[in-house]
Amino acid sequence: MNLVFLGPPGAGKGTQARYVAERHRLVALSTGDMLRAAVAEGSEIGLQVRSIMESGGLVPDEIVASLISEALRRARADDAVDGVLLDGFPRNLEQAKMLEEILERQGETIDVVLELRLEDDALLRRIESRIAENPSERREDDTPEVLRNRIEVYHRETRPLGDYYRERGLLHEIDGSAPVESVTRAIEAVLSQAADIGGQRKAG
Ligand code: ADP
Repeated sequence: MNLVFLGPPGAGKGTQARYVAERHRLVALSTGDMLRAAVAEGSEIGLQVRSIMESGGLVPDEIVASLISEALRRARADDAVDGVLLDGFPRNLEQAKMLEEILERQGETIDVVLELRLEDDALLRRIESRIAENPSERREDDTPEVLRNRIEVYHRETRPLGDYYRERGLLHEIDGSAPVESVTRAIEAVLSQAADIGGQRKAG
């Protein structure tokens, strides 16, 4: 089972992704985490993307696509893994098309797309309290100004993917403003329904 997680910055994708991945033997792949690791290492990619990330913009599609392609290959080679959960990729239509090509080459498809929905002011409040609770984990791009830019980029570039996947019958919307456990339950409900449908397809 391959999942895509869509949702604005601060919607709680990472938290839910870790939980769902563990429960369903999936590997959670976060392009944000991969890029932050590249920056921390000071690799060539890290040097290329650092200032873009600090401003809240999107790094070039080819860079994230190649990181994801490599991570997908590794996940497929691992027998302990039943699929992947993509968090933070794709982030625009071009990346969505790239993802389809990558998966097709590997004989895979997207099974479910989950979109966490949350109002902008709730996002700002969440990130502010995340910073207040864990000041040491504050990210370079967790400033009010940069966050506003990340939210704007989300609306402009990433939101249209909701329609794209809805047209393909893959989209499930989840209310991200509910408490963490309720969001998890809503996600589990979608996934068990999807597993039933998948099972019926296989049986039929
Ligand atoms: P959040 O969802 O909280 O904004 P992420 O950890 O997903 O944060 O991403 C952090 C930053 O990494 C983004 O603002 C962007 O600069 C870069 N990034 C992550 N994923 C992508 C992607 N798929 N395409 C382009 N840039 C990306």
